[in-house]
Amino acid sequence: MATIDFGFRNQIIQLDIGTTLTYCYQCATCSGACPVSQVTNGRYNPRRLILKSLLGLKENIFGKKNSFEIWGCTVCDTCDEVCPQKVELTEIFTILKNLSVERGEAPEHYTSQASVILENGKAIPMQTAIERRRSQLGLPQILSPDIKEIKKLLNLTNLKSKIPEKKTE
Ligand code: SF4
Ligand code: SF4
Repeated sequence: MATIDFGFRNQIIQLDIGTTLTYCYQCATCSGACPVSQVTNGRYNPRRLILKSLLGLKENIFGKKNSFEIWGCTVCDTCDEVCPQKVELTEIFTILKNLSVERGEAPEHYTSQASVILENGKAIPMQTAIERRRSQLGLPQILSPDIKEIKKLLNLTNLKSKIPEKKTE
């Protein structure tokens, strides 16, 4: 039987600005509208994730085996739009994602993307081939970001310490 973790439950409620989590009455409008839920046969389910958060079922949310439970969300905001109780679902899921990162459980494709942003100031570094193609298509040159400034800001968030070291073969 799952253990109720009241500390975890209170932590989410406190981090959820407006404590909207407690407004949920489990109508399932969010999961009915969620595009990820629709294409995963309910394997990902925002209503269920809200319920688990509300009940403090921490061990059913975290852990590498439950990764999709949190990280399946694409942050499309549809659930926020349709929730009759104005529960801030995506904000609550961001809290869970941040806790997942703190626990070192974020999927590798997210943390490696964070490394790229930290090093280059953007998710897709500019490449000569892209620049040449843009020029051929008559598209304007993309200005380089101020990497020093971006690194300074990201270092204030301690992002680097949250990205796991890459394993060498
Ligand atoms: S739509 Fe809102 S009230 Fe209904 S289950 Fe989802 S979060 Fe809860
Ligand atoms: S924000 Fe996430 S949970 Fe909400 S509808 Fe989009 S994918 Fe589903």
